Amino acid sequence: MLDKEVSKRILLCIIDKYPRKNDTTDPFQVLISTVLSQRTRDANTAEASRALFSRFPTAYELSKAKVSEVERLIKPAGMYKQKAERIVRIARDIVERWNGKVPATFDDIIKFNGVGRKTANIVLAVSYGLPVIAVDVHVHRISNRMGIVKTKTPYETEMALMDIVPEAYRTKLNGAMVNFGQLVCLPRIPKCQSCIFKEVCEYGRNNISGRKVNKVRRARSGDS
Ligand code: SF4
Repeated sequence: MLDKEVSKRILLCIIDKYPRKNDTTDPFQVLISTVLSQRTRDANTAEASRALFSRFPTAYELSKAKVSEVERLIKPAGMYKQKAERIVRIARDIVERWNGKVPATFDDIIKFNGVGRKTANIVLAVSYGLPVIAVDVHVHRISNRMGIVKTKTPYETEMALMDIVPEAYRTKLNGAMVNFGQLVCLPRIPKCQSCIFKEVCEYGRNNISGRKVNKVRRARSGDS
């Protein structure tokens, strides 16, 4: 496992080199688009969110929407029947229980239908600027791969990263890690050869040295 100071420098470097610009910081739209993003690609989420918010930009408007119309608008995001029901119910809760405004505490956000720890932390970080870290599949995978943490669950990763990343940078970590995970440290075949962290990353060092050994073996056996 990497030294804590080295890990911190790597994470700050990812934040610096792979920044992610949010389309909106509006708490309602961030919450709903994060629900839409479950199990789909960014481009699909963006298309569904654009269509949805151009018709229903606030919780008040979405709370009165017909589920069938919402289904049609968010279809590109996949699982659209389940997601449509979920987000209309969330909008109704926001209107009925919170006067149309998304609450700014973790315990309140997590009570919405189908909202988990990651989504709550994204809203708190992106919309309310609170120093929390949202851990999704990218953050969990990359942190473990590189040797920054050794954890089994996203929750353990979140706790470990909170101990490494200074408060001022935490809100930016999720977006940067997602970018980095989509551009370089891909889920199945990471681009270690062209990665700026290949000398320090645990997986990258093993991956590249393993390839070199194989290359030498193939050369000796006259295979390449
Ligand atoms: S060296 Fe490879 S595994 Fe490590 S961060 Fe870079 S792309 Fe990911």
